[in-house]
Amino acid sequence: MEDRAATRSTLEHLILLEDYLRYGVRSGREVPPEPEPSAEADDIQARALSEATIRAGTPAPSSAPTSSAGAPSADRQAALGAIEARVKACAACALSQTRSRTVFGQGVPAPELLVIGEGPGAEEDRQGLPFVGASGKLLDKMLAAIGLSRETNCYIGNIVKCRPPNNREPSPTERNACIGYLRAQIEILRPRFILCVGRTAAHGLLEMTDPISRLRGRSFQFEGIPVRITFHPSALLRDASLKRPVWEDLKQLRALMDSPPGERAASGGLVSFPDSANFSSGEG
Ligand code: SF4
Repeated sequence: MEDRAATRSTLEHLILLEDYLRYGVRSGREVPPEPEPSAEADDIQARALSEATIRAGTPAPSSAPTSSAGAPSADRQAALGAIEARVKACAACALSQTRSRTVFGQGVPAPELLVIGEGPGAEEDRQGLPFVGASGKLLDKMLAAIGLSRETNCYIGNIVKCRPPNNREPSPTERNACIGYLRAQIEILRPRFILCVGRTAAHGLLEMTDPISRLRGRSFQFEGIPVRITFHPSALLRDASLKRPVWEDLKQLRALMDSPPGERAASGGLVSFPDSANFSSGEG
């Protein structure tokens, strides 16, 4: 019985993924009811897998309903695994031609915080994992400073799943081709909060074009999930003077995460936080 529920959950997410990639929004299609026990589930799954043709998608409006809140971790893992398999085979944009590995994401399946970066770098492309180079080590320190980690309560992903050559910024075409995967991940993960690191991540998720100086310190929403924005760790490695503003951003995020939902709404998400700790960028 649990297997059938997990299969159904995976199918729902595959349909969702196809919706986001093909139409940019939820179509409202549902997995057909299972006639009678057992083997039919395998047939349905095989059919859905073969029918779900992945195409380049357009960004969806921020109005799709949620579906995975409260789903068991095993179901979420299975749904993520099914989508990751599609990503590994994806050739929807030119980045597929130069990647070594796709980088889907890493972390717990029901995270307190989802961290979204721009795209894989050289080390990530080699290992197939997000934020594992110098900036990744710094990101881990930043998260640890406010009691978070990818091992216990965070998930880390990127706007694009394949490395742009020479670490260039992904183009709007590449971002649009890939954003459906991230939308599907968010739908499955249902994080309580999202942190975008860097301008490209914020622009890709929120469909905005403001400079990061006008995005920091403000609260946004994505599908009802509070979103905060700070500098990318790689910017911090290049310019140590950004350490202070990043710490301010992290303190505000921690306070937001700790505040009751009512206070969160009343304060617009900006909550004071005692200035009592710090993190070190060290060697990154
Ligand atoms: Fe597919 Fe995204 Fe990779 Fe482009 S970046 S090939 S859309 S997985």
